[in-house]
Amino acid sequence: MNFHVMTLFPEMIENAMAVSITGRAIKSGCISVNAVNIRDYAQNKHNRVDDYPYGGGAGMVMQAEPVYRCYEDIIEKHGSARVICLSPQGRVFSQEMAQEYAGEENLIFLCGHYEGIDERVLEEIVTDYVSIGDYVLTGGELPALVMMDTIARLVPGVLNNAVSAQTESFAEGLLEYPQYTRPEEWHGKKVPAVLLSGNHKLLAEWYREQSVLRTVKNRPDLLQKAKLTEKECQLAEEFLQKNGNRGL
Ligand code: SAM
Repeated sequence: MNFHVMTLFPEMIENAMAVSITGRAIKSGCISVNAVNIRDYAQNKHNRVDDYPYGGGAGMVMQAEPVYRCYEDIIEKHGSARVICLSPQGRVFSQEMAQEYAGEENLIFLCGHYEGIDERVLEEIVTDYVSIGDYVLTGGELPALVMMDTIARLVPGVLNNAVSAQTESFAEGLLEYPQYTRPEEWHGKKVPAVLLSGNHKLLAEWYREQSVLRTVKNRPDLLQKAKLTEKECQLAEEFLQKNGNRGL
């Protein structure tokens, strides 16, 4: 998977991606990160890439031409690819979308700044508009990093243990069960006995039950799409009744 990022702050992308799991994935060649500075495509003495908005109003707007020239350079060198514009006005990012993007060979991210980017270049090059949530950040770099981190861990070879991505929150429409590590007792609290039993059948049942309970408690909205057995539906209903919530 090759990530190409059009940005005014390439060092922000490079520094964040160079550490931990993504850093190892870059070193091993599972992913690559090509942060391209839009400013390098400005055609004026001071490398300015923004200007005042037509019609007035607060802030500055990124100009179409440097963004377009940057995009053209990327596709000339690496071939065309989906162009994801990070925007609070886009579709809200999800694990399901990450799964879909993980199947691509190249992805291009376009990070806005200031008040945003001239609409005309967006119309010409953007294929997807993606938001990371209903709030406004100063730039698209953090949203691009959030997306790349999420997508990268779904690329084969990036995680040491591929099973962990399959059992994690959202993988099956549920939140993950609680996790414990040594010591066996901490602040008087014992690790649930089933985790020490070594009985795989019991463990699998406990994981699933805990996932259902976590989801009912923290994100009941997810349950509408999750495939629950009759017994699990009953478990969820019992939890909701006990805790004074409405039925599923
Ligand atoms: N004026 C824009 C609006 O009201 O929709 C907001 C511009 S914001 C200050 C600057 C840039 O940050 C955007 O162009 C986008 O790239 C990025 N950004 C801000 N919030 C975001 C979010 N929730 N998800 C994705 N990108 C975001």
